[in-house]
Amino acid sequence: MARHLITSAIPYINGIKHLGNLVGSQLPADLYARYLRARGHEVLFLCATDEHGTPAELAAAKAGKPVADYCAEMWAVQARLAEGFRLSFDHFGRSSSPQNHRLTQHFAKVLDEAGLIREVSETQMYSNADGRFLPDRYIEGTCPNCGFDSARGDQCDNCTKQLDPVDLINPHSTISGSTDLEMRETKHLYLAQSKMKDELEKWIDTREGWPVLTTSIAKKWLNDGDGLQDRGITRDLDWGIPVQRGDDPWPGMEGKVFYVWFDAPIEYIACAQEWVEAGKGDDWARWWRTDAGAQDVRYTQFMGKDNVPFHTLGFPVTILGSGEPWKLVDYIKSFNYLNYDGGQFSTSRGRGVFMDQALEILPADYWRWWLLSHVPETSDAEFTWEAFQSGVNKDLADVLGNFASRVTKFCRSKFSEAVPEGGTQGPRELQLIADLTAKLRDYEANMEALEIRKAAAALRGAWVLGNEYLQEVAPWSTFKTDPEQAAMQIRLALNMIRLYAVISAPFIPDACADLLAAMQTGDDSWPTDVAAALTMLPPGHAFTVPEVTFRKITDAEREDWAERFAGTRD
Ligand SMILES: [Zn+2]
Repeated sequence: MARHLITSAIPYINGIKHLGNLVGSQLPADLYARYLRARGHEVLFLCATDEHGTPAELAAAKAGKPVADYCAEMWAVQARLAEGFRLSFDHFGRSSSPQNHRLTQHFAKVLDEAGLIREVSETQMYSNADGRFLPDRYIEGTCPNCGFDSARGDQCDNCTKQLDPVDLINPHSTISGSTDLEMRETKHLYLAQSKMKDELEKWIDTREGWPVLTTSIAKKWLNDGDGLQDRGITRDLDWGIPVQRGDDPWPGMEGKVFYVWFDAPIEYIACAQEWVEAGKGDDWARWWRTDAGAQDVRYTQFMGKDNVPFHTLGFPVTILGSGEPWKLVDYIKSFNYLNYDGGQFSTSRGRGVFMDQALEILPADYWRWWLLSHVPETSDAEFTWEAFQSGVNKDLADVLGNFASRVTKFCRSKFSEAVPEGGTQGPRELQLIADLTAKLRDYEANMEALEIRKAAAALRGAWVLGNEYLQEVAPWSTFKTDPEQAAMQIRLALNMIRLYAVISAPFIPDACADLLAAMQTGDDSWPTDVAAALTMLPPGHAFTVPEVTFRKITDAEREDWAERFAGTRD
């Protein structure tokens, strides 16, 4: 038994996430956490909302709410959807927590003491009417390139040209509308990542078996152009973690907060403290401090490829640079993108299926199975309604669901609603056990290597073996001539339902809980020895015929949904 710390990249607070976001970190992280727990390991699985930054302020303003209220409400929405998808976080925290405030200010202090923070003077747009410096997104004006009258200080949404606020014609504050703006000198803090370049590169080079996607992105940022650049870690915003050196003020930094990219990964640690604060655990340090037990922890992070730079460079600079015994990540599992029906998922245009909508039309397991078995591991993947319908109908309804249904209904009609007695296993059964064992070992090896598509394929292969066996031995025919032999075949098949429920639960937890309930057993021990596992339900053990485990998606539904999710969500 080992100890595993698992974190999923933390989703941004401003709105409901689409299925591409879900499969890009939270869902595979949950699969892994569930699998490791099922194997008897001790797991701490953490996620949180990422709540700071300009987009949160803007979304709150648009909703007409104070930003703290807006974030609290959206956290509750995201927590409820996570529950709906059965994401089994030990804690779902918030980057705005007091714990994260304290830790972020602490890291800033120790990094400063280590000479890794420098103050940089810059000129920045100041609004006299608002009495504050304005982040680029809070300034709008006419685009010098295309004449669009609502270009933002960082970019023109009409012609996509990257801009500086000073480029805008007739700039104004989006807070007050005031045009009384001037460039003023101000100071910001930068994290001196460049000083850590060699140490980072050495660390990355010693990571064994990391996915190419992860290391290639990290190497590119380390070495391309002028190499790893220092990065600003402060912003002029009201909402965020005030810039302080630990508990002490930071002269010259009044009114500034830490930039969200600096505080968000620190929330992984703060989240463990929130977990303790919430009364769910009693010792966060044994997961996070190598001087308090975390040297025995294996730490795995899950994220989309866009988040790799922050996790291979930015956050490790914070951890390594602190000089303190914090746990560093052992393995980073990163993902490509899931596209939607010939294009991209789009939050702004409402294109694609969002987490709340998905749960309105089908149970979580349907989505979990399809998304995980098509996870964008080695390249971008695409969601199409045809592929989704086909995957659900074939794998879940025709293979797994059908097996459970046929076996239990046949037993009820020919024997009773209890495991039948009699008969002895022959070579065909030994062959089945050998084949199942091989598939299961393949499944386990791929889960441990985090080869998720291959793991899904092995699991599907295990389901197929059951159907092939049933087809071949045909207990409905055997029964006519040799009822004892048919009883043995059905007894084995009933036990396979329990085995399937145990090994499939990391992918489809609700259906598997239903199957275990139908088999009237709470025994979900892992089938290390397949032959023994297939005798767990003894003759006479009562069961019930499960309700329809998986229904098929009809062509009419598929067409209806394809049209409904093509764009323009309200
Ligand atoms: Zn423009």
